[in-house]
Amino acid sequence: MRYDCVIIGGGLSGITCGIRLAEKGASCAVISTGMSALHFSSGSIDLFGHEGEGKTVFRPFEFLDDFIGSNPLHPYARCGSSQIREALFYFRDQLGREDIDLYNNDDANHFHVTTLGTLKPTFFSQRSVFNEKIRQAFEKKSKIAALNFEGYRDFYPELAVINLKRNILFRNIEIISGKILYPDYGDPRRNPFEYRSIDIARIFDTERYLEDLAAQIRAAAGDAAFAAMPAFLGITNFKRHHQLLQQLTGLLIYEIPTLPPSILGMRIDNALKSRFAALGGVYIAGDTVKSGTISGGRLESVYTENGGASALGAGNFVLASGSFFSGGLVSEFSRVREPVFGLRVHSDAERSRWYAPEFFPRDGHPFLEYGVETDERLNPLTDDGQRIANLYCIGALLPHYNPIREGSGGGVAVSTGYRAAELILAGN
Ligand SMILES: Cc1cc2nc3c(=O)[nH]c(=O)nc-3n(C[C@H](O)[C@H](O)[C@H](O)COP(=O)(O)OP(=O)(O)OC[C@H]3O[C@@H](n4cnc5c(N)ncnc54)[C@H](O)[C@@H]3O)c2cc1C
Repeated sequence: MRYDCVIIGGGLSGITCGIRLAEKGASCAVISTGMSALHFSSGSIDLFGHEGEGKTVFRPFEFLDDFIGSNPLHPYARCGSSQIREALFYFRDQLGREDIDLYNNDDANHFHVTTLGTLKPTFFSQRSVFNEKIRQAFEKKSKIAALNFEGYRDFYPELAVINLKRNILFRNIEIISGKILYPDYGDPRRNPFEYRSIDIARIFDTERYLEDLAAQIRAAAGDAAFAAMPAFLGITNFKRHHQLLQQLTGLLIYEIPTLPPSILGMRIDNALKSRFAALGGVYIAGDTVKSGTISGGRLESVYTENGGASALGAGNFVLASGSFFSGGLVSEFSRVREPVFGLRVHSDAERSRWYAPEFFPRDGHPFLEYGVETDERLNPLTDDGQRIANLYCIGALLPHYNPIREGSGGGVAVSTGYRAAELILAGN
């Protein structure tokens, strides 16, 4: 089988790239081993949240105009600020077609509440996490009820309330906490493993319990104007059931991102895969690309674990295999390597410099900035210095940025995924 493009890795960067290519008529396959970082993320897309010394970035596009000039190796510099903007709004439109509505505060960051009750700057959030009504409710100092399911161990409303109250924005807002119970469930302490966000999301996905749950939410919220709940209000039927719950309770109900597994991230993952399939893309799940044939500076074909000796050929390839977290980079005792093609990796030869002595260092751990070196066209080099002209590297696999310190992970994945697609389309 031969495709116009084969993408290795089906996370945020790989599928964004695949959607753009498939939309423009390219035959495209994504091969992906397993879950991506989306299943662990907040489900908000960060563009740039913090500059040096932890200073908050309020207007990321304005910031990036200067930043790119002084950081030519950063993945954003490979895209340019106008293409970053194009990529992000393209991404928002594509998700909108799959019924996922993303909120953005024009060109400015907004701040969503985290599980711990802190505020985090981000660029896109699902509208159940942040929207104009929520902003107005904060401004009007409306009373909030922070509610949880009895037995759910990954959110402690009382802790979130204490931390929120430390923030000047919430100091004069009354916040109460409360619990609701799954109607037929019995003792929620029966088995802690049955009570993760995904289990509760399945309860909200069926209509059977909605009225009962709505009555409980209403009672627990008292005279609060809106209820904040962990983001477990459904995966497949989320939008309809969220609206229904708001109607039945007469409350604004908004979601706080949870610890993994991330229902908000899964909604995006499902939507991206569905959009890719609707455009004719082929998604091969549960297989791993093991190697490839490189000849004359071009990647001819790849071999997968399940495919054995049968080669998968394409005109272009995209490597979107993520960082250490997803196996796109592997650390051995004395080196960091890219395991599929043995590409040249930016890292430090001296292991003791891979990490900082503190667990939460101010400038982040150096290994977070390691990755596959590319030229401006996102083409990598083999270990012996040969450029591979039809292989493009994108997303968390790239070096010279720190997604945690900067708050830029989602933005880099979307922008470089889109950029690679544009380069491939322009080359054909
Ligand atoms: C815990 C966590 C929380 C985060 N939270 C946020 C957040 O709130 N907001 C934000 O903007 N960003 C966040 N980020 C960063 C952001 O989510 C990631 O940078 C981004 O999703 C990376 O996407 P990716 O497609 O490049 O890689 P990944 O999501 O890592 O996907 C790589 C995929 O490639 C597959 N793969 C690997 N090797 C192979 C192979 N050889 N063959 C086939 N498939 C392969 C993997 O199975 C995986 O599915 C977070 C990251 C992490 C780890």
